[in-house]
Amino acid sequence: FLKGKSALVTGSTSGIGLAYARVLAGAGAHMMLNGFGDADAIETIRAELAEASGGEALYDAVDMSKPDQIAAMVARAHAAWGGPDIVINNAGIQHVCPIEEFPPEKWDAIIAINLSSAFHVMRAAVPHMKARGWGRIISTASAHSLVASPNKSAYVAAKHGIAGLTKTVALETATHGITVNAISPGYVWTPLVENQIPDTMKARNLTREQVIEDVLLHAQPTKEFVTPEQVAALALFLCRDEAASITGANLSMDGGWTA
Ligand code: NAD
Repeated sequence: FLKGKSALVTGSTSGIGLAYARVLAGAGAHMMLNGFGDADAIETIRAELAEASGGEALYDAVDMSKPDQIAAMVARAHAAWGGPDIVINNAGIQHVCPIEEFPPEKWDAIIAINLSSAFHVMRAAVPHMKARGWGRIISTASAHSLVASPNKSAYVAAKHGIAGLTKTVALETATHGITVNAISPGYVWTPLVENQIPDTMKARNLTREQVIEDVLLHAQPTKEFVTPEQVAALALFLCRDEAASITGANLSMDGGWTA
């Protein structure tokens, strides 16, 4: 149902972003991929997505902390296919550390990549969506857009910011056939979660198993990690015409964490 449409997913070389890219390409959308990683592995993903979509897939390596480069990537997608009709703000990083030791440069990087990049993508893409009278904007927020955990000051601040940005842009675009929503997963087993285990072990003086069971899954009543595919399936639904009335929402998928 997305044949002829185009989608840009930031941070789509790994984890949740890659799952989004796979379902959108599977539904027929042209894909603009973004994110870091091994060049050969990314080229394999790009080729796989182009084939799955029956259309085209491009890769743009822009660093999502660079506003000028972000605008250029949106312009590149527009030049290739019009649109982009669908954008998913997903690139993100984490740093786990108590506030008094939190490096200011990590704060700046997390705010830039996890929050400001979504502003820059939306700012560049909304005029194209308005011109076509249709658009879907989705941001991967987090349970941390609704509640906090210790030692994640920058991440929690950025994700709460995404929740507010989502509501605001939803109101501004509501009469243009554009919906703007956030998806707030609990813990999803991806490199982002795996990589924070050593710092959490250090910050809380715990073993790896204790971090997984007592910190990560402790938060989730289901005692199960959310999967990237579950998150992507919700995003795909938001792209359907049946989802036209869902806008300004922050949709939890967190195994009951924030209940
Ligand atoms: P991941 O590490 O697997 O993927 C992150 C992606 O962002 C990668 O493609 C990476 O290359 C890209 N990226 C990082 N910095 C970038 C930069 N400066 N410029 C361009 N790309 C950059 O992690 P993930 O868990 O799939 O995270 C994706 C999103 O989901 C993030 O916004 C994260 O905060 C959010 N999230 C994750 C979880 C979880 O438990 N994994 C839970 C809630 C929300």
